[in-house]
Amino acid sequence: MSYKCNICGKFHDNLPMDISYKNPADYFKVSPNERAKRIQNTEDVCVIDNNEFYIRGVLPLPVIDSNDEFRWGVWARIEEQDFMIYLKYWDGNIPENLPALSGRLSGEIKDYPESDMLPVEIYLQSKNQRPIFKVLSAKTPLGIDQEKGITLEKVHSFVEPLLK
Ligand SMILES: [Zn+2]
Repeated sequence: MSYKCNICGKFHDNLPMDISYKNPADYFKVSPNERAKRIQNTEDVCVIDNNEFYIRGVLPLPVIDSNDEFRWGVWARIEEQDFMIYLKYWDGNIPENLPALSGRLSGEIKDYPESDMLPVEIYLQSKNQRPIFKVLSAKTPLGIDQEKGITLEKVHSFVEPLLK
């Protein structure tokens, strides 16, 4: 079902509200013929050489003047002890007093230069939902957008390559 877009005037299907990265950026630093041996991964976790730990989460950006949000599906590198906490609570209920975990994004988010390695707080979610990432510094472009929200025009620019 396509509609006439009031941002660009073309017809598309609904505006996608999320973009995901299938792997952390560090996955690609391991050469393809070594990945099977050195990397253990699923859609949600990635472990390199048994000592680098990554989890996939959701980094939401509120859309201004709407109840909607745009979601980046991104990866963060975390410490082993936090990875163990993540595994422990992945399909259970999160204790109310569990502090946020911390990590750093693995990979630069499209349209946000210097977002690679950006520190984030990680909020685990109950019942198999992906953790929510919150940018720690509100002074970076990504942090500002997460704090203040983005326009639908900006969402449009993110998803432009996916539109038809
Ligand atoms: Zn459009």
